[in-house]
Amino acid sequence: GRKFFVGGNWKCNGTAEEVKKIVSTLNEAEAPSGDVVEVVVSPPFVFLPLVKSSLRSDFHVAAQNCWVKKGGAFTGEVSAEMLVNLDIPWVILGHSERRLLLNESNEFVGDKVAYALSQGLKVIACVGETLEQRESGATLNVVSAQTKGIAERISNWANVVLAYEPVWAIGTGKVATPAQAQEVHSELRKWLQSNIGAEVATSTRIIYGGSVNGANCKELAAQPDVDGFLVGGASLKPEFVDIIKSAT
Ligand code: 13P
Repeated sequence: GRKFFVGGNWKCNGTAEEVKKIVSTLNEAEAPSGDVVEVVVSPPFVFLPLVKSSLRSDFHVAAQNCWVKKGGAFTGEVSAEMLVNLDIPWVILGHSERRLLLNESNEFVGDKVAYALSQGLKVIACVGETLEQRESGATLNVVSAQTKGIAERISNWANVVLAYEPVWAIGTGKVATPAQAQEVHSELRKWLQSNIGAEVATSTRIIYGGSVNGANCKELAAQPDVDGFLVGGASLKPEFVDIIKSAT
């Protein structure tokens, strides 16, 4: 089976004091065992060492981005090699905030995913449509093209978690209904089945992100193709623990 996955994307938030507080809340929380749920929190780069060194050992950390190739003369970037060097196991790539605000294309995101995997990182790869795209009926085309940009560049999906995050649901309080999430997750799984193969389709975790909170997570988690969550705002709050518990 696919192990339930709960990611907390802290985005560009937090002071050192706030980060310490979040970590201590997580460390004190009762959570299902690591056989039942994989928990990964993603602080901003500068807090990664602090979080990694203070977080309980059954939870893991992710960076929110990394450079598309080997490090060097790329001012302001952080390379996959650096994350590996610091034992950071995961990286989030292709988040819609980067696709839209920083113009990351499907091809560029695919190149990043391929490079990160080649260095031994595990990747949370994000896809999702805007409201305009959904309203014009383009959702499946958009998420397929985003997935294709990745699929064309990698040959092993074992270290990839696919995150479906509709842009209209991110930070808006307008969570996708369980049926809306299930529909896209099921189509993504079918896409993997037709374009890559049955094994990858069956084993790849497809997680949902966009206004997930302690109150709506249970019903979403009950959908057959929802294998977990990528949580933004609520991952900074104690209710993140309730979302982790929706694994059971
Ligand atoms: P919110 O949970 O704040 O809507 O953010 C979702 C997200 O973008 C996680 O990557």
